[in-house]
Amino acid sequence: MHIGFRRSGGRGEYEVVGSHTGLSAMDLESWTFQLRWPDGIVRETDLWLDPGDSGKPRLRSLRSQAFQIGRQAASMLMLPEPRRNYDGTLSGLPVARHKGYVLTRLGFGPDTEFTGINDVVTIDPVFVDLDNQTDKETVGIRHRWARIEAVYASLDLLPTNVRSLVVQHRTFMASGDPVDARLGSIVRNLERALAGAIAGWVADTDPLPGLEALLGIVPLPGPSLPPPDEIGEEEPVVSARSAHEYRLAKIRGASGRKFSTEIRAAYGNRCAFCGAVYGGVASVRSGVDAAHILAWSKYDLDVVPNGISLCKLHHWAFDAALLLPYYEGSRRDIPTLRFTQLAVDNFSADTLAKLGMHKQTLRPEWFPSDPALWPSRTYLDRLYADLAIEFAA
Ligand SMILES: [Zn+2]
Repeated sequence: MHIGFRRSGGRGEYEVVGSHTGLSAMDLESWTFQLRWPDGIVRETDLWLDPGDSGKPRLRSLRSQAFQIGRQAASMLMLPEPRRNYDGTLSGLPVARHKGYVLTRLGFGPDTEFTGINDVVTIDPVFVDLDNQTDKETVGIRHRWARIEAVYASLDLLPTNVRSLVVQHRTFMASGDPVDARLGSIVRNLERALAGAIAGWVADTDPLPGLEALLGIVPLPGPSLPPPDEIGEEEPVVSARSAHEYRLAKIRGASGRKFSTEIRAAYGNRCAFCGAVYGGVASVRSGVDAAHILAWSKYDLDVVPNGISLCKLHHWAFDAALLLPYYEGSRRDIPTLRFTQLAVDNFSADTLAKLGMHKQTLRPEWFPSDPALWPSRTYLDRLYADLAIEFAA
């Protein structure tokens, strides 16, 4: 998925293109967008996806159309200000010249998060494409940011006026404030200051190589970027299910490991759907997974009642919303297994019989001894509502 520039008559517009973990622009109507920058700061962009009336959602700024993603990303990357009208761009290299190009794409990396509870996309930005009438350039964001940080870190050799502008850029970025016209002015002033500081400097162009030249920094060659379409783009699938898969994939990092350890301990390395114990052997990696019921990223609930211990096969079946635990009766009852309509519609009865039995009551000894640690009914109900689960009859 990426944000793409669409040429429509005079001024172009940005839209959300492609899909990510099964979500497409249509699923993200009215959502707002944040950027998780390589410095770790999550910034508001004040952009939202306006459903519009043409059926094609457009990315719009809540402040002013002037603060579209192109202008924001460019000034954060210390690139000259792009144009909004492609027809007015300049042909020929270098591409990055003041109002001489359009920032036509911002690619979403695999760590982009979709938080449905408050309808926010937190973009993990990977690259931007710069485009003019004849040339195109892809800029890897992490690599470019590392170059900028190297400049931030060695300011002493810069002429005073240039240095103070770089300090202003650094200070603005460190503030975490949403990007506004001030940051673009700083970059614009840098472009101009370099003309006075470097003989033969081409005015209005990308200031970063000039700063590196003044500091004697030789940037490392950039990583070879994968083609944009291979970054975080996946075939569209049923969105609710894939959102669920996405949630489970978000188990990671230290808190994810702690969660996994606690779940495995509470269930004794046992799969709650089939009772198999695939763990507790010192030399063999555990074969049971700690599956979240509600998304870690969405609900931040790394607690045992928000998880269930499942073998690889049953984790898959749970993940794919084929076979789910369901509390049928009173509060003290153990859950039963239920196939979903999705499972019945798409898999043979023989295959489903290998997975489990519809409405089979699970055994209490497969669950934690303390019922307070059992999968939460509230969380399960919430999950089923979120995924619009239809259980088989
Ligand atoms: Zn199992």
